[in-house]
Amino acid sequence: MCPFCKDKPCKILERPDGHLACECGRHSWPNAAVYAESLRLADLTVVKNVHNWTQSF
Ligand SMILES: [Zn+2]
Ligand SMILES: [Zn+2]
Repeated sequence: MCPFCKDKPCKILERPDGHLACECGRHSWPNAAVYAESLRLADLTVVKNVHNWTQSF
């Protein structure tokens, strides 16, 4: 899922040249490493939400 499209789940599409872009086209990454890094940074900011999720179990 795109870490920046928070209004709806947005799939990441990989182009044949290795370029990654989210389904709606608002975000794109030059390669998988850059995308992985932005995912990691986004994770740091949503840890609280994940925690709340697990608490409901
Ligand atoms: Zn996006
Ligand atoms: Zn999107």
